Amino acid sequence: MLETLRRIVQEVNSAPDLSSALDVMVGRVRQSMGTEVCSIYLLDHSVSQYRLMATEGLNKAAVGAVTLQFSEGLVGQVGLREEPINLDDAPSHPKFRYLQETGEEPFHSFLGVPIIHHRKVLGVMVVQQRDRRRFDQDEEAFLVTISAQLAAVVAHAEATGAIDDIFGRGALTARFDGVVGCVGVAIGKAFVVYPPADFKSVPDRPVKNIKKELRTLDEAIKTVRLEIRALSEKAMIALPPEEHALFQVYERMLDDNALGGEIRRHVQQGNWVQGALREVVLKHVAAFEAMEDSYLRARASDVRDLGLRILAYLQQAKTLTAPIPEKAIIVGEDITPTIFVDIPRERIVGIVSLHGSSNSHMSIVARSLGIPTVVGVGEFPLSRLEALQLIVDGHRGEVIIQPDAEVLRQYQDIIDEQKELSKELEEVADLPCETTDHFRVNLFVNTGLMADVNLSLQRGAEGVGLYRTEIPFMVRDRFPTELEQMEIYRQQLEAFHPAPVTMRTLDIGGDKSLPYFPIQEDNPFLGWRGIRVTLDHPEIFMVQVRAMLWASESLDNLRIMLPMVSSTTEIEEALHLIHRAYLEVLEEGAHVRMPEVGVMIEVPAAVYQIQEFMQQCDFVSVGSNDLTQYLLAVDRNNRRVANLYQAFHPSVLRALRQVVNEAKLANKPVSICGEMAGDPRTAILLVAMGYETLSMSASSLLRVKWVIRKLGMDRMRHLLDQVWEMDNAAVIRSHVDLMLDSAGLGNFIRPTVFSSSQAKEAAARTLN
Ligand code: PEP
Ligand code: MG
Repeated sequence: MLETLRRIVQEVNSAPDLSSALDVMVGRVRQSMGTEVCSIYLLDHSVSQYRLMATEGLNKAAVGAVTLQFSEGLVGQVGLREEPINLDDAPSHPKFRYLQETGEEPFHSFLGVPIIHHRKVLGVMVVQQRDRRRFDQDEEAFLVTISAQLAAVVAHAEATGAIDDIFGRGALTARFDGVVGCVGVAIGKAFVVYPPADFKSVPDRPVKNIKKELRTLDEAIKTVRLEIRALSEKAMIALPPEEHALFQVYERMLDDNALGGEIRRHVQQGNWVQGALREVVLKHVAAFEAMEDSYLRARASDVRDLGLRILAYLQQAKTLTAPIPEKAIIVGEDITPTIFVDIPRERIVGIVSLHGSSNSHMSIVARSLGIPTVVGVGEFPLSRLEALQLIVDGHRGEVIIQPDAEVLRQYQDIIDEQKELSKELEEVADLPCETTDHFRVNLFVNTGLMADVNLSLQRGAEGVGLYRTEIPFMVRDRFPTELEQMEIYRQQLEAFHPAPVTMRTLDIGGDKSLPYFPIQEDNPFLGWRGIRVTLDHPEIFMVQVRAMLWASESLDNLRIMLPMVSSTTEIEEALHLIHRAYLEVLEEGAHVRMPEVGVMIEVPAAVYQIQEFMQQCDFVSVGSNDLTQYLLAVDRNNRRVANLYQAFHPSVLRALRQVVNEAKLANKPVSICGEMAGDPRTAILLVAMGYETLSMSASSLLRVKWVIRKLGMDRMRHLLDQVWEMDNAAVIRSHVDLMLDSAGLGNFIRPTVFSSSQAKEAAARTLN
């Protein structure tokens, strides 16, 4: 059975389009099961109707013409019940609906199974037979298995828009669900960023017209050369001069006496240009990767990068040289923070990423810049969106394609209201963050980009609770030197001086990878991450700490923080290196004070060792993004389980209470720098628990301050007491929302334009 299944799936997957795939499917299933009929009905969600899309055994003329309402007939019942219906005499079933056009009167036995993808019914697959007999268990299991495979094909067709073609739908107008990345609403034009070209899928292909192939190669090299020059000019502004050497190296690699010539020779031997390119590039990449010297090894990624640029051109993939609309909504399969290197910030009004969740790093950067973002929009018709009008609804986690005039007007109202609210929020920028009964809360900011700094200062940030140093590492082609790091860190320290700046040592691994330091692991979030990487690479750690220390010279507002710590040994080892770096810079003549060193509480093990940690370090800060992921065993990036990633989960709240209580017992400072600090609804619970320092993205500062300034500590503590009695996240979240509504603060968590039922739904999606 497995072999038959595999064969059918292979054939279906290699069909040129959806209609042919469905035809192959019904033909092969009928043959394998030995039934007289096999048909597929797909559900057209826009009209809530099933439509017969393929059949073997029924009247072919009925394909595309026969429809059933959502709950009509046995097909409708299968979809409604979301389970198989197996009958020996279908016509005697009360729900049976005779469809004359199909010519199905001779058939009695009926087995229908739903086609479901991610809980969504996409259609129904049916086999029928003349005999009155129930299909046996094996047959039922076979059809269920095959329909699960078909579901992926249909879902893909929905995502690419191919399904609209077979339903004969005109212009695309639809809403797609995702997860909130950054709250807010944006209206703009889609600018689709395609995934990078990939050598793995390039086959060898013999060519006859070698001259033509060589012309294509010349054209590609010429274009890529121009692209590199343009990038180099652009980088003049952003990168220090020594970086430019890299662009010249790239250009030279294209020459005839280097890669260019080698590719040419392969083409002359008869391979098409893409195959020749793959051959040459992968050979050199492998050679560099095998080298002992780490510098030379790192050159492998330069060759790969250059090769991919040429491949992208050859495959006609769109590069970022295409004109970017004024109000661009950046849409892509997996948008990463490096997008801000290629596209000017002022053009980006919204972001939509098919992958990711509200706690992936793209969302965090989007929040720091205040760009409405929806992520995890799995089935999105990426290839059909270019230049279409989109609405990014970062309150409900929805994207609307080609909205009608009425919907546009509603969303424009929301944007206007947000602008008004932002103006109002400015009023508290210079006021202290304190409750109505005068409990003072320190509002710190999380930074990573230089762009965060000005916004943070304008909004009255009282210090930096988390500077994510990996972001400047991510936008480069190699590790930044000590001097480069020093300059970047100095900007942060100076900008906030005399307020403290908490710099986290390099936190890579998990979903944060450096293009020049790839980490391949089956389970990256449980693997080589954060402090584990840097302790294994003291040369990287030492350079970074030295750069931080030098940067703090005569400012003395540096604090160093260690990510992903799970044991006291890691703290000991890190402290040992930090002290060594400190002595080194002192010897070299720096005038610096030994900074405070703290630990992030991100791993459940750390929650239970606060006392021991505190004996070695000066402070702790909760990284609730990772702590939530590890406590609940829910990947923070996985859209399939995004609804299980719950900041309001009672266990998460109890762990946070444990941390603050233990830190107070040790009489050392404790703060929180995960995203929970920046959501007014969780922020008030944290304040009630005793957290006195909250660190959040710049765009959340005023909103959180406003809400805290409107409430008394008594009221927050009372709310928290009630929360401890509740056993699940949904109830806790609605309870907090209700309290904020009754305090007249509902508009700080969602626009008033949403009605109350919508508000409930919106709240549910904003922060699970
Ligand atoms: C966290 O995990 O909460 C945190 C602040 O770190 P990051 O989001 O960068 O992993
Ligand atoms: Mg973290």
